[in-house]
Amino acid sequence: MPYDRSILTQTVDIPKKKNMSGYHMSSKEFRKYGKELIDWIADYYDYIESYPVQSVVSPGEIRAALPDAAPETAEPFEDWIQDVEKIILPGLTHWQSPSFFGYFPCNSSGPAILGDLLSSGLNVQGMMWSTSPACTEVETHVLDWLVDMLDLPTHFKSSSAGGGVIQDTASSATLCAMLAARFRMEQRKGAVGSSDVEARSGEAAYRFVAYASEEAHSSVEKGLRIIGISTERLRKIATDGSFAMNVTELRAAMQSDREAGLVPFFVSATVGTTSSNAMDPLDKIGDVCQEFNTWLHVDAAMSGTAAICPEFRWIHKGLESADSYCFNPHKWMFTNFDCDCFYVANRSDLTGALSILPEYLKNDATASEAVFDYRDWQIPLGRRFRALKLWFVIRQYGIQGLQYHLRRHVKLAQTFGQWVEEDPQFEILAPYPLALVCFAHKAGDEFTNRLLETVNRTGKIFATHTTLRGRFAIRMSIAQTYTELRHVERAWKLFQETSRSLQAARPENA
Ligand SMILES: *Cc1c(COP(=O)(O)O)cnc(C)c1O
Repeated sequence: MPYDRSILTQTVDIPKKKNMSGYHMSSKEFRKYGKELIDWIADYYDYIESYPVQSVVSPGEIRAALPDAAPETAEPFEDWIQDVEKIILPGLTHWQSPSFFGYFPCNSSGPAILGDLLSSGLNVQGMMWSTSPACTEVETHVLDWLVDMLDLPTHFKSSSAGGGVIQDTASSATLCAMLAARFRMEQRKGAVGSSDVEARSGEAAYRFVAYASEEAHSSVEKGLRIIGISTERLRKIATDGSFAMNVTELRAAMQSDREAGLVPFFVSATVGTTSSNAMDPLDKIGDVCQEFNTWLHVDAAMSGTAAICPEFRWIHKGLESADSYCFNPHKWMFTNFDCDCFYVANRSDLTGALSILPEYLKNDATASEAVFDYRDWQIPLGRRFRALKLWFVIRQYGIQGLQYHLRRHVKLAQTFGQWVEEDPQFEILAPYPLALVCFAHKAGDEFTNRLLETVNRTGKIFATHTTLRGRFAIRMSIAQTYTELRHVERAWKLFQETSRSLQAARPENA
Protein backbone atom coordinates (compact mmCIF):
# COMPACT_ATOMS: atom_id res chain seq x y z
CA MET A 1 0.00 0.00 0.00
CA PRO A 2 1.57 3.34 -1.07
CA TYR A 3 0.22 5.37 1.82
CA ASP A 4 -1.37 4.89 5.23
CA ARG A 5 -5.08 4.32 4.71
CA SER A 6 -5.84 4.04 8.40
CA ILE A 7 -6.87 7.71 8.32
CA LEU A 8 -10.00 6.62 6.46
CA THR A 9 -11.17 4.55 9.39
CA GLN A 10 -10.89 7.34 11.96
CA THR A 11 -14.25 8.73 12.99
CA VAL A 12 -14.91 12.41 12.49
CA ASP A 13 -18.17 14.22 13.21
CA ILE A 14 -19.20 15.79 9.96
CA PRO A 15 -21.56 18.75 10.49
CA LYS A 16 -24.77 18.84 8.53
CA LYS A 17 -24.81 21.75 6.12
CA LYS A 18 -27.18 24.75 6.51
CA ASN A 19 -25.82 27.11 9.07
CA MET A 20 -22.89 24.83 9.41
CA SER A 21 -20.95 24.91 12.61
CA GLY A 22 -18.40 22.25 13.55
CA TYR A 23 -15.61 24.77 14.10
CA HIS A 24 -16.79 26.96 11.18
CA MET A 25 -18.18 30.43 11.61
CA SER A 26 -21.86 29.87 10.88
CA SER A 27 -23.52 32.12 8.34
CA LYS A 28 -25.57 33.54 11.20
CA GLU A 29 -22.40 34.45 13.09
CA PHE A 30 -20.80 35.76 9.92
CA ARG A 31 -23.71 38.15 9.38
CA LYS A 32 -23.59 39.34 12.98
CA TYR A 33 -19.84 39.82 13.24
CA GLY A 34 -19.60 41.14 9.72
CA LYS A 35 -22.02 43.95 10.54
CA GLU A 36 -20.23 44.62 13.79
CA LEU A 37 -16.91 44.83 12.00
CA ILE A 38 -18.25 47.26 9.41
CA ASP A 39 -19.49 49.42 12.31
CA TRP A 40 -16.10 49.10 13.96
CA ILE A 41 -14.35 50.27 10.77
CA ALA A 42 -16.79 53.17 10.37
CA ASP A 43 -16.07 54.19 13.97
CA TYR A 44 -12.35 53.91 13.30
CA TYR A 45 -12.67 56.47 10.53
CA ASP A 46 -14.98 58.69 12.61
CA TYR A 47 -12.51 58.81 15.50
CA ILE A 48 -9.21 58.42 13.65
CA GLU A 49 -8.14 61.95 14.53
CA SER A 50 -8.07 61.06 18.21
CA TYR A 51 -5.16 58.63 17.73
CA PRO A 52 -1.50 59.70 17.61
CA VAL A 53 -0.67 59.49 13.90
CA GLN A 54 2.61 57.63 14.27
CA SER A 55 2.92 54.46 16.32
CA VAL A 56 5.58 54.78 19.00
CA VAL A 57 5.90 51.17 20.17
CA SER A 58 9.37 49.64 20.49
CA PRO A 59 10.56 46.61 18.55
CA GLY A 60 9.06 43.41 19.97
CA GLU A 61 6.40 45.17 22.02
CA ILE A 62 3.47 43.83 20.00
CA ARG A 63 4.72 40.26 19.96
CA ALA A 64 5.30 40.36 23.70
CA ALA A 65 1.58 41.04 24.15
CA LEU A 66 0.58 37.97 22.14
CA PRO A 67 0.35 34.45 23.61
CA ASP A 68 3.37 32.23 23.01
CA ALA A 69 1.35 29.51 21.35
CA ALA A 70 -1.71 29.32 19.11
CA PRO A 71 -5.00 28.59 20.89
CA GLU A 72 -5.86 24.92 21.27
CA THR A 73 -9.58 25.65 21.23
CA ALA A 74 -11.77 28.32 19.68
CA GLU A 75 -11.79 31.86 21.05
CA PRO A 76 -14.80 34.15 20.63
CA PHE A 77 -14.93 36.98 18.09
CA GLU A 78 -15.41 39.54 20.87
CA ASP A 79 -11.95 38.65 22.18
CA TRP A 80 -10.35 39.07 18.78
CA ILE A 81 -11.72 42.59 18.49
CA GLN A 82 -10.76 43.43 22.04
CA ASP A 83 -7.18 42.44 21.24
CA VAL A 84 -7.29 44.49 18.06
CA GLU A 85 -8.15 47.54 20.16
CA LYS A 86 -5.74 46.77 22.97
CA ILE A 87 -2.74 45.32 21.14
CA ILE A 88 -2.98 46.21 17.45
CA LEU A 89 -4.19 49.82 17.42
CA PRO A 90 -1.23 51.19 19.45
CA GLY A 91 1.09 49.41 17.01
CA LEU A 92 -0.35 51.17 13.99
CA THR A 93 0.71 54.30 12.21
CA HIS A 94 -2.60 55.66 10.99
CA TRP A 95 -2.08 56.03 7.27
CA GLN A 96 -5.72 57.02 6.84
CA SER A 97 -5.50 59.89 9.30
CA PRO A 98 -6.15 63.22 7.58
CA SER A 99 -2.99 64.42 9.37
CA PHE A 100 -0.84 61.72 7.75
CA PHE A 101 1.57 63.51 5.42
CA GLY A 102 4.30 60.86 5.24
CA TYR A 103 5.85 58.98 2.32
CA PHE A 104 3.06 59.07 -0.29
CA PRO A 105 -0.72 58.89 -0.09
CA CYS A 106 -2.08 55.40 0.51
CA ASN A 107 -5.70 56.26 -0.16
CA SER A 108 -8.68 54.32 0.99
CA SER A 109 -12.39 55.00 0.63
CA GLY A 110 -15.71 53.39 1.53
CA PRO A 111 -16.42 52.00 -1.95
CA ALA A 112 -12.89 50.58 -2.21
CA ILE A 113 -13.15 48.83 1.16
CA LEU A 114 -16.50 47.37 0.12
CA GLY A 115 -15.10 46.29 -3.25
CA ASP A 116 -12.23 44.53 -1.51
CA LEU A 117 -14.63 42.89 0.92
CA LEU A 118 -16.76 41.64 -1.94
CA SER A 119 -13.65 40.35 -3.70
CA SER A 120 -12.76 38.42 -0.53
CA GLY A 121 -16.31 37.14 -0.22
CA LEU A 122 -16.48 35.85 -3.77
CA ASN A 123 -12.83 34.79 -3.67
CA VAL A 124 -12.67 33.66 -7.27
CA GLN A 125 -9.37 32.92 -8.98
CA GLY A 126 -9.13 35.09 -12.05
CA MET A 127 -6.00 33.54 -13.47
CA MET A 128 -7.67 32.88 -16.81
CA TRP A 129 -10.77 34.19 -18.53
CA SER A 130 -12.33 30.75 -18.27
CA THR A 131 -11.84 30.51 -14.49
CA SER A 132 -14.23 33.46 -13.97
CA PRO A 133 -15.01 35.48 -17.10
CA ALA A 134 -16.37 38.50 -15.22
CA CYS A 135 -13.15 38.88 -13.25
CA THR A 136 -11.17 39.38 -16.47
CA GLU A 137 -13.74 41.37 -18.41
CA VAL A 138 -14.50 43.92 -15.71
CA GLU A 139 -10.77 44.48 -15.30
CA THR A 140 -10.17 44.97 -19.02
CA HIS A 141 -13.18 47.25 -19.24
CA VAL A 142 -12.32 49.45 -16.27
CA LEU A 143 -8.71 49.75 -17.47
CA ASP A 144 -10.04 50.87 -20.85
CA TRP A 145 -12.21 53.45 -19.06
CA LEU A 146 -9.11 54.73 -17.33
CA VAL A 147 -7.34 55.25 -20.66
CA ASP A 148 -10.10 57.72 -21.50
CA MET A 149 -10.29 59.15 -18.00
CA LEU A 150 -6.55 59.98 -17.95
CA ASP A 151 -6.47 60.70 -21.70
CA LEU A 152 -3.70 58.11 -22.19
CA PRO A 153 -2.59 57.10 -25.70
CA THR A 154 -5.31 54.93 -27.27
CA HIS A 155 -2.81 52.18 -28.11
CA PHE A 156 -3.00 51.25 -24.43
CA LYS A 157 -6.60 50.15 -24.98
CA SER A 158 -7.57 46.51 -25.31
CA SER A 159 -9.21 47.27 -28.67
CA SER A 160 -5.74 48.02 -30.07
CA ALA A 161 -2.60 45.87 -29.92
CA GLY A 162 -2.07 46.88 -26.30
CA GLY A 163 -4.06 46.71 -23.13
CA GLY A 164 -4.12 47.15 -19.39
CA VAL A 165 -3.91 44.83 -16.42
CA ILE A 166 -3.98 45.32 -12.65
CA GLN A 167 -0.71 44.44 -10.91
CA ASP A 168 -0.22 44.38 -7.18
CA THR A 169 2.34 47.21 -7.25
CA ALA A 170 4.32 49.51 -9.49
CA SER A 171 7.38 47.42 -8.63
CA SER A 172 5.76 44.39 -10.28
CA ALA A 173 4.68 46.48 -13.26
CA THR A 174 8.23 47.67 -13.78
CA LEU A 175 9.54 44.12 -13.48
CA CYS A 176 7.01 42.89 -16.08
CA ALA A 177 7.97 45.78 -18.36
CA MET A 178 11.61 44.70 -18.15
CA LEU A 179 10.73 41.12 -19.05
CA ALA A 180 8.66 42.31 -22.01
CA ALA A 181 11.47 44.63 -23.12
CA ARG A 182 14.02 41.83 -22.99
CA PHE A 183 11.66 39.49 -24.85
CA ARG A 184 11.16 42.04 -27.63
CA MET A 185 14.87 42.64 -27.91
CA GLU A 186 15.55 38.94 -28.15
CA GLN A 187 12.92 38.60 -30.88
CA ARG A 188 14.51 41.26 -33.00
CA LYS A 189 17.29 39.08 -34.21
CA GLY A 190 19.42 41.02 -36.63
CA ALA A 191 16.87 43.74 -37.10
CA VAL A 192 18.81 46.61 -35.61
CA GLY A 193 22.54 46.22 -35.85
CA SER A 194 25.09 43.76 -34.70
CA SER A 195 25.00 44.52 -31.00
CA ASP A 196 21.40 43.31 -30.86
CA VAL A 197 22.40 40.11 -32.60
CA GLU A 198 25.07 39.66 -29.95
CA ALA A 199 22.37 40.15 -27.40
CA ARG A 200 21.03 36.78 -28.48
CA SER A 201 24.35 35.05 -28.29
CA GLY A 202 23.88 33.60 -24.82
CA GLU A 203 25.59 36.49 -23.14
CA ALA A 204 22.48 38.65 -23.18
CA ALA A 205 22.38 39.22 -19.47
CA TYR A 206 25.92 40.53 -19.61
CA ARG A 207 25.23 42.91 -22.45
CA PHE A 208 21.86 44.49 -21.64
CA VAL A 209 21.97 47.93 -20.07
CA ALA A 210 19.13 49.87 -18.44
CA TYR A 211 18.74 53.59 -17.74
CA ALA A 212 16.85 55.61 -15.18
CA SER A 213 17.50 58.90 -13.47
CA GLU A 214 19.35 59.03 -10.18
CA GLU A 215 15.98 60.02 -8.67
CA ALA A 216 14.14 56.95 -10.04
CA HIS A 217 12.47 54.56 -7.63
CA SER A 218 14.52 51.68 -6.20
CA SER A 219 12.14 49.21 -7.87
CA VAL A 220 14.06 49.76 -11.13
CA GLU A 221 17.28 48.46 -9.62
CA LYS A 222 15.43 45.69 -7.82
CA GLY A 223 13.62 44.58 -10.99
CA LEU A 224 16.91 44.36 -12.84
CA ARG A 225 18.40 42.25 -10.07
CA ILE A 226 15.44 39.91 -10.26
CA ILE A 227 15.80 39.42 -14.02
CA GLY A 228 19.51 38.80 -13.57
CA ILE A 229 20.98 42.12 -14.66
CA SER A 230 23.49 43.49 -12.19
CA THR A 231 23.39 46.98 -10.76
CA GLU A 232 26.54 47.78 -12.73
CA ARG A 233 24.36 47.60 -15.82
CA LEU A 234 21.99 50.28 -14.55
CA ARG A 235 23.04 53.76 -15.58
CA LYS A 236 21.77 56.29 -13.09
CA ILE A 237 21.43 59.40 -15.22
CA ALA A 238 22.08 62.78 -13.63
CA THR A 239 19.19 65.18 -13.10
CA ASP A 240 18.75 68.87 -13.81
CA GLY A 241 17.93 71.71 -11.41
CA SER A 242 14.38 70.42 -10.98
CA PHE A 243 15.52 66.82 -10.31
CA ALA A 244 14.27 65.66 -13.73
CA MET A 245 16.36 63.40 -15.96
CA ASN A 246 19.01 65.17 -18.03
CA VAL A 247 18.33 63.85 -21.53
CA THR A 248 21.67 64.94 -22.99
CA GLU A 249 23.33 62.71 -20.40
CA LEU A 250 20.93 59.89 -21.20
CA ARG A 251 21.77 60.03 -24.88
CA ALA A 252 25.51 60.21 -24.22
CA ALA A 253 25.35 57.18 -21.92
CA MET A 254 23.39 55.13 -24.44
CA GLN A 255 25.76 56.13 -27.23
CA SER A 256 28.86 55.18 -25.31
CA ASP A 257 27.34 51.88 -24.19
CA ARG A 258 26.45 51.01 -27.75
CA GLU A 259 29.96 51.86 -28.89
CA ALA A 260 31.27 49.56 -26.19
CA GLY A 261 29.21 46.71 -27.64
CA LEU A 262 26.54 46.81 -24.96
CA VAL A 263 22.79 46.75 -25.65
CA PRO A 264 20.59 49.57 -24.31
CA PHE A 265 17.35 47.64 -23.72
CA PHE A 266 15.29 49.58 -21.17
CA VAL A 267 14.73 53.15 -20.09
CA SER A 268 12.50 53.95 -17.12
CA ALA A 269 11.23 57.52 -16.95
CA THR A 270 9.35 58.84 -13.95
CA VAL A 271 6.28 61.06 -13.80
CA GLY A 272 6.49 62.33 -10.24
CA THR A 273 9.60 60.93 -8.55
CA THR A 274 9.10 59.54 -5.07
CA SER A 275 11.59 61.83 -3.44
CA SER A 276 10.53 65.23 -4.79
CA ASN A 277 7.82 64.66 -7.44
CA ALA A 278 10.10 65.58 -10.35
CA MET A 279 8.75 65.08 -13.87
CA ASP A 280 11.13 63.52 -16.40
CA PRO A 281 10.75 65.00 -19.92
CA LEU A 282 8.96 62.10 -21.61
CA ASP A 283 8.91 63.63 -25.07
CA LYS A 284 12.68 64.08 -25.26
CA ILE A 285 13.36 60.74 -23.61
CA GLY A 286 10.98 59.13 -26.11
CA ASP A 287 12.99 60.55 -29.02
CA VAL A 288 16.20 59.07 -27.66
CA CYS A 289 14.54 55.70 -27.07
CA GLN A 290 13.32 55.69 -30.64
CA GLU A 291 16.79 56.50 -31.92
CA PHE A 292 18.24 53.56 -29.98
CA ASN A 293 15.28 51.25 -30.42
CA THR A 294 14.97 50.94 -26.68
CA TRP A 295 11.91 50.13 -24.59
CA LEU A 296 10.50 53.14 -22.75
CA HIS A 297 8.68 52.42 -19.51
CA VAL A 298 6.95 55.29 -17.73
CA ASP A 299 6.51 55.02 -13.96
CA ALA A 300 3.76 57.39 -12.83
CA ALA A 301 2.99 55.46 -9.64
CA MET A 302 2.40 58.44 -7.40
CA SER A 303 1.25 61.16 -9.78
CA GLY A 304 -0.38 59.60 -12.84
CA THR A 305 -3.84 59.88 -11.29
CA ALA A 306 -3.61 63.67 -11.56
CA ALA A 307 -4.24 63.33 -15.31
CA ILE A 308 -7.91 62.72 -14.56
CA CYS A 309 -7.97 66.54 -14.46
CA PRO A 310 -7.33 68.07 -17.90
CA GLU A 311 -5.23 70.88 -16.39
CA PHE A 312 -2.67 68.36 -15.07
CA ARG A 313 -2.33 66.31 -18.26
CA TRP A 314 0.88 68.10 -19.15
CA ILE A 315 2.61 65.56 -16.89
CA HIS A 316 2.07 62.96 -19.63
CA LYS A 317 3.37 65.05 -22.52
CA GLY A 318 5.26 62.64 -24.77
CA LEU A 319 3.67 59.49 -23.37
CA GLU A 320 2.70 58.42 -26.92
CA SER A 321 6.13 56.90 -27.44
CA ALA A 322 6.10 54.82 -24.26
CA ASP A 323 5.99 51.05 -24.61
CA SER A 324 4.58 50.64 -21.13
CA TYR A 325 3.10 52.79 -18.41
CA CYS A 326 1.88 52.38 -14.87
CA PHE A 327 0.19 54.37 -12.13
CA ASN A 328 -1.12 53.41 -8.71
CA PRO A 329 -4.78 53.96 -7.86
CA HIS A 330 -3.68 52.64 -4.45
CA LYS A 331 -1.74 55.82 -3.94
CA TRP A 332 -3.90 58.73 -5.04
CA MET A 333 -7.14 57.35 -6.49
CA PHE A 334 -9.02 56.47 -3.31
CA THR A 335 -8.54 52.75 -3.97
CA ASN A 336 -7.23 50.51 -1.22
CA PHE A 337 -3.90 48.78 -1.56
CA ASP A 338 -3.11 46.87 -3.69
CA CYS A 339 -3.90 48.22 -7.13
CA ASP A 340 -1.46 49.29 -9.83
CA CYS A 341 -2.71 49.83 -13.40
CA PHE A 342 -0.16 48.65 -15.93
CA TYR A 343 -0.47 49.26 -19.66
CA VAL A 344 1.49 47.99 -22.64
CA ALA A 345 1.38 49.31 -26.19
CA ASN A 346 1.87 45.83 -27.57
CA ARG A 347 0.55 43.04 -25.39
CA SER A 348 2.31 40.32 -27.37
CA ASP A 349 5.64 41.50 -25.93
CA LEU A 350 4.32 40.91 -22.44
CA THR A 351 2.53 37.64 -23.04
CA GLY A 352 5.45 36.45 -25.15
CA ALA A 353 7.69 36.92 -22.13
CA LEU A 354 5.33 35.41 -19.58
CA SER A 355 3.05 32.84 -21.20
CA ILE A 356 3.59 29.16 -20.56
CA LEU A 357 0.59 26.89 -21.14
CA PRO A 358 0.70 23.62 -19.23
CA GLU A 359 -1.71 20.86 -20.20
CA TYR A 360 -3.90 21.23 -17.09
CA LEU A 361 -4.74 24.86 -17.95
CA LYS A 362 -5.70 24.27 -21.58
CA ASN A 363 -9.28 25.28 -22.44
CA ASP A 364 -11.34 26.25 -25.47
CA ALA A 365 -11.50 29.96 -24.67
CA THR A 366 -7.71 30.21 -24.44
CA ALA A 367 -7.33 28.18 -27.63
CA SER A 368 -9.72 30.52 -29.45
CA GLU A 369 -7.43 33.51 -28.68
CA ALA A 370 -10.60 35.55 -28.19
CA VAL A 371 -9.93 36.21 -24.50
CA PHE A 372 -7.26 37.64 -22.22
CA ASP A 373 -5.75 35.24 -19.73
CA TYR A 374 -4.28 37.65 -17.23
CA ARG A 375 -1.98 35.02 -15.75
CA ASP A 376 0.11 35.70 -18.87
CA TRP A 377 0.37 39.39 -17.98
CA GLN A 378 1.88 38.99 -14.49
CA ILE A 379 4.38 36.97 -12.44
CA PRO A 380 2.03 34.81 -10.29
CA LEU A 381 -0.56 32.46 -11.67
CA GLY A 382 -3.40 33.27 -9.27
CA ARG A 383 -5.11 36.63 -9.01
CA ARG A 384 -7.87 38.27 -7.03
CA PHE A 385 -10.85 40.20 -8.36
CA ARG A 386 -9.13 43.53 -7.72
CA ALA A 387 -11.05 45.36 -10.42
CA LEU A 388 -14.13 45.36 -8.19
CA LYS A 389 -12.77 48.02 -5.84
CA LEU A 390 -11.66 50.18 -8.73
CA TRP A 391 -15.03 49.80 -10.41
CA PHE A 392 -16.82 50.72 -7.17
CA VAL A 393 -14.60 53.77 -6.60
CA ILE A 394 -15.25 55.11 -10.09
CA ARG A 395 -18.99 54.56 -9.68
CA GLN A 396 -19.06 56.21 -6.26
CA TYR A 397 -17.18 59.39 -7.20
CA GLY A 398 -17.71 59.62 -10.94
CA ILE A 399 -15.07 61.45 -12.92
CA GLN A 400 -16.26 64.74 -11.44
CA GLY A 401 -15.88 63.57 -7.87
CA LEU A 402 -12.37 62.29 -8.53
CA GLN A 403 -11.44 65.58 -10.18
CA TYR A 404 -12.88 67.49 -7.25
CA HIS A 405 -10.70 65.70 -4.71
CA LEU A 406 -7.53 65.76 -6.84
CA ARG A 407 -7.92 69.51 -7.35
CA ARG A 408 -8.63 69.95 -3.67
CA HIS A 409 -5.42 68.13 -2.73
CA VAL A 410 -3.29 70.04 -5.22
CA LYS A 411 -4.71 73.31 -3.94
CA LEU A 412 -3.96 72.36 -0.34
CA ALA A 413 -0.37 71.50 -1.24
CA GLN A 414 0.06 74.70 -3.25
CA THR A 415 -1.26 76.68 -0.30
CA PHE A 416 1.14 74.96 2.07
CA GLY A 417 4.03 75.64 -0.33
CA GLN A 418 3.04 79.29 -0.43
CA TRP A 419 3.13 79.52 3.36
CA VAL A 420 6.64 78.02 3.37
CA GLU A 421 7.78 80.52 0.76
CA GLU A 422 6.37 83.43 2.72
CA ASP A 423 8.16 82.48 5.94
CA PRO A 424 11.75 83.78 5.89
CA GLN A 425 12.81 81.00 8.31
CA PHE A 426 11.99 78.28 5.78
CA GLU A 427 12.73 77.45 2.18
CA ILE A 428 11.35 75.26 -0.58
CA LEU A 429 13.87 72.70 -1.89
CA ALA A 430 12.17 71.45 -5.07
CA PRO A 431 9.39 72.44 -7.44
CA TYR A 432 6.00 71.30 -6.14
CA PRO A 433 3.77 70.89 -9.19
CA LEU A 434 1.15 68.70 -7.50
CA ALA A 435 0.60 67.46 -3.97
CA LEU A 436 4.10 67.02 -2.50
CA VAL A 437 6.10 69.86 -0.92
CA CYS A 438 9.77 69.44 0.03
CA PHE A 439 11.09 72.11 2.36
CA ALA A 440 13.71 72.83 5.00
CA HIS A 441 14.41 75.22 7.82
CA LYS A 442 17.16 77.68 6.96
CA ALA A 443 19.04 76.81 10.16
CA GLY A 444 20.39 73.75 8.35
CA ASP A 445 20.08 69.98 8.02
CA GLU A 446 20.54 69.07 11.63
CA PHE A 447 17.95 71.57 12.77
CA THR A 448 15.44 70.55 10.09
CA ASN A 449 15.89 66.92 11.09
CA ARG A 450 15.31 67.74 14.75
CA LEU A 451 12.28 69.82 13.83
CA LEU A 452 10.73 66.91 11.95
CA GLU A 453 11.40 64.46 14.76
CA THR A 454 9.98 66.80 17.37
CA VAL A 455 6.86 67.49 15.35
CA ASN A 456 6.27 63.78 14.68
CA ARG A 457 6.71 62.95 18.36
CA THR A 458 3.69 65.09 19.21
CA GLY A 459 1.55 62.52 17.40
CA LYS A 460 -0.50 65.36 15.94
CA ILE A 461 0.80 64.89 12.43
CA PHE A 462 3.23 62.63 10.63
CA ALA A 463 5.62 63.69 7.86
CA THR A 464 8.77 62.05 6.47
CA HIS A 465 12.03 63.19 4.90
CA THR A 466 14.34 62.81 1.94
CA THR A 467 17.65 64.29 0.86
CA LEU A 468 17.87 66.54 -2.18
CA ARG A 469 21.36 67.29 -3.52
CA GLY A 470 22.61 66.19 -0.12
CA ARG A 471 20.29 68.47 1.82
CA PHE A 472 17.84 67.17 4.40
CA ALA A 473 14.28 67.92 3.31
CA ILE A 474 10.93 67.47 5.03
CA ARG A 475 8.38 65.97 2.66
CA MET A 476 4.73 66.99 3.09
CA SER A 477 2.61 64.70 0.98
CA ILE A 478 -0.86 66.23 1.08
CA ALA A 479 -3.23 63.74 -0.53
CA GLN A 480 -4.89 61.61 2.12
CA THR A 481 -8.53 61.07 1.10
CA TYR A 482 -10.00 63.09 3.98
CA THR A 483 -7.38 65.80 4.51
CA GLU A 484 -8.89 69.28 4.73
CA LEU A 485 -7.52 72.79 5.01
CA ARG A 486 -7.69 72.72 8.81
CA HIS A 487 -5.34 69.74 8.97
CA VAL A 488 -2.81 71.41 6.72
CA GLU A 489 -3.07 74.68 8.67
CA ARG A 490 -2.50 72.86 11.93
CA ALA A 491 0.53 71.08 10.48
CA TRP A 492 2.10 74.32 9.29
CA LYS A 493 1.49 76.06 12.63
CA LEU A 494 3.08 73.11 14.35
CA PHE A 495 6.20 73.39 12.19
CA GLN A 496 6.41 77.13 12.79
CA GLU A 497 5.81 76.99 16.55
CA THR A 498 8.08 74.01 17.10
CA SER A 499 10.91 75.63 15.16
CA ARG A 500 10.58 78.78 17.28
CA SER A 501 10.69 76.87 20.54
CA LEU A 502 13.60 74.72 19.36
CA GLN A 503 15.52 77.85 18.40
CA ALA A 504 14.77 79.52 21.70
CA ALA A 505 16.14 76.44 23.47
CA ARG A 506 19.44 76.41 21.51
CA PRO A 507 22.53 76.89 23.66
CA GLU A 508 23.71 79.94 21.69
CA ASN A 509 20.41 81.63 22.55
CA ALA A 510 20.73 80.84 26.25
C1 LIG B 1 5.62 54.50 -4.70
C2 LIG B 1 6.38 54.41 -5.96
C3 LIG B 1 6.81 53.19 -6.48
C4 LIG B 1 6.61 51.89 -5.76
O1 LIG B 1 5.29 51.60 -5.62
P1 LIG B 1 4.77 50.14 -5.28
O2 LIG B 1 3.43 50.12 -5.93
O3 LIG B 1 4.71 50.07 -3.79
O4 LIG B 1 5.71 49.15 -5.85
C5 LIG B 1 7.46 53.19 -7.68
N1 LIG B 1 7.69 54.32 -8.34
C6 LIG B 1 7.30 55.53 -7.89
C7 LIG B 1 7.58 56.76 -8.68
C8 LIG B 1 6.63 55.60 -6.67
O5 LIG B 1 6.24 56.80 -6.20
